Amino acid sequence: MEAFEFATAGRVLVGAGRSADLPALLAACGTRALVCTGASPDRHAELLAGLGMPAAVFPVAGEPTVDLVRTAVATAREHGADVVAAIGGGSVIDTGKAAAMLLGNGGDPLDYLEVIGAGRAITRPSVPFIAVPTTAGTGAEVTANAVLASPAHRVKASLRSGTMIPWAALVDPLLTVSCPPSVTAASGMDALTQCLEPFVSPMASPLSDAVAREGIRRAAGGLRRAYADGGDLGARADMSVASVAGGMALANAKLGAVHGLAGVIGGTVAVPHGVACAALLAPVIGANVAALRAGAPGHPALDRYAEAAALLTGDPGAAIEDGIAWVRQTLALLAIPRLGELGLLPEQAGGIAVQAMRSSSMRGNPVALSEGDLRAILADAG
Ligand SMILES: [Zn+2]
Repeated sequence: MEAFEFATAGRVLVGAGRSADLPALLAACGTRALVCTGASPDRHAELLAGLGMPAAVFPVAGEPTVDLVRTAVATAREHGADVVAAIGGGSVIDTGKAAAMLLGNGGDPLDYLEVIGAGRAITRPSVPFIAVPTTAGTGAEVTANAVLASPAHRVKASLRSGTMIPWAALVDPLLTVSCPPSVTAASGMDALTQCLEPFVSPMASPLSDAVAREGIRRAAGGLRRAYADGGDLGARADMSVASVAGGMALANAKLGAVHGLAGVIGGTVAVPHGVACAALLAPVIGANVAALRAGAPGHPALDRYAEAAALLTGDPGAAIEDGIAWVRQTLALLAIPRLGELGLLPEQAGGIAVQAMRSSSMRGNPVALSEGDLRAILADAG
């Protein structure tokens, strides 16, 4: 008998104009709100003016740090907030998610952070948290972790617990229409990668496969169109659904070598996460397929890669190589820079490969890659 587990806590509400439901959702779970936004809250002036309850607005500029989350929690306490919302990209959502967890559990981020903190278990529920994504990619609106940077430790680490999955994800593709092309490209490639890696993961289950397949199909249809015409609402909706699908797939089936390497690269040079994933995706698929064909020719991940190639190209008879070619063409069409152009130096590859071997994402990779394989991937992506 097969056995698997699939976490589904949280409501996901999808639709153009759906952000109008935010006041009702807030009223359903609180009386005073902390609302995290991007650096310019004015972009959402209309939404913020109609929340229907006293709200403290907390702008988040850049990636969340341990200190920033401490300030967010202090702001929420001062305001007496009993509900948290986040309107923004992955960084904004992660800030709100971390603050909601700390308001429910007490303590400091370092008490709970993996790797650099005490890693204490998160046992109590977060205060209700509503995620309203304005980009399509990270899947943070449905995942159980928040990534924080600690400049003192020069690394990023996660707060993680099933209790951190947002109480509601309010997914309104209209909010992503103003997303500039470069962000659409990078976050969209992240969404695609976060569907593809769980799809070939040893932790995949029939339910994670179902959402991953749907996400790959949506990204294949929507990514290039959303980049070419930001006002294409159908393409924007496809990418918003691909983002949710990626978040649900990775939360249940883990990721792989793309994210193992991208996490270390993100702590080494200032490369946007989605750009790192985009540059690594084709080289990692190539390396995984070569290693599987050499060591385990009947491995089910090879069939998965072929199925993904068919979904990406729209050709049911597509070979894995056709899927890799589709990814490389998409990178060119979306004008995504190579890692070398963003400051990654060839001499950094060795250190990155060694660190990535130890990353938790590597456990979701379908085959064990050697340090030499990872160096070759970095050379290909650089
Ligand atoms: Zn990612």
